[in-house]
Amino acid sequence: MAKDPICGMEVEEKGAEFMVHFEHETFYFCTKTCQENFELKEGIRHDETGKKWWQRIIKEPKGAPPKCH
Ligand SMILES: [Zn+2]
Repeated sequence: MAKDPICGMEVEEKGAEFMVHFEHETFYFCTKTCQENFELKEGIRHDETGKKWWQRIIKEPKGAPPKCH
C-alpha cells in the first residue's frame, strides 16, 4: 500500500487511478482532488493548454529590453 501524501489515506498501487511521478518517486492519491492539490503544492500542475510543467518553468521574456542607440 502507498500513502496519499495529501490526506494520509492508504492507496492500493495496483490499478491506482490517481498517481503522479515526481522526482523519481511515484505518489498515489485517493482522489483526483488530492492529486491536484499535490500537483499545485509541488508546482507540477499541468495547465489547461496541455503544456507540461517543465515547459511552464521556462518562461518567455516579456517583450524585448529597451535598446540604446
Ligand atoms: Zn487523499
